[in-house]
Amino acid sequence: MTNDTVYSGGCACDQVRYEITGKPSFIFICHCRNCQRATGNIYATNAWFPHSAVAIKNAELGAHVTTGDSGKPVYHEYCSSCGSPMGMRSDAYPDFRGVRIASLDDPNVLAPVGEVFTRSAVSWIPLHPTLPKFEGQVPDADLLKIMNSY
Ligand SMILES: [Zn+2]
Ligand SMILES: [Zn+2]
Repeated sequence: MTNDTVYSGGCACDQVRYEITGKPSFIFICHCRNCQRATGNIYATNAWFPHSAVAIKNAELGAHVTTGDSGKPVYHEYCSSCGSPMGMRSDAYPDFRGVRIASLDDPNVLAPVGEVFTRSAVSWIPLHPTLPKFEGQVPDADLLKIMNSY
């Protein structure tokens, strides 16, 4: 993966399109209740990039605001026209923006490196067989290790 890698994606109605330049800082399957509810799915897979890497075109994103484990606001972003979940931001990680990887034109191009908030994972489907698991948020030391591994 090089620094000029470009990923593209958008919402279901195509009003929102985005391009991402560069490599992800970290990618997690997130089982937290807020991601579950904001995406209508049993988990969200979020790829986090530096803010400057993500260029959103054509549209403003709506955001539903929740409070994260950190006690700081978390913004679950969606297309204001069709409601597709697009990504998330957290005041706990102000330098980064999360992209829901299901919104990529090809969701196969990025893969998660771990699972977080497994304490609220649903019981009726197994967790990933090999990915590292965290009951809640990733401890800073582990996050740093993961960021340096890309
Ligand atoms: Zn849309
Ligand atoms: Zn989450």
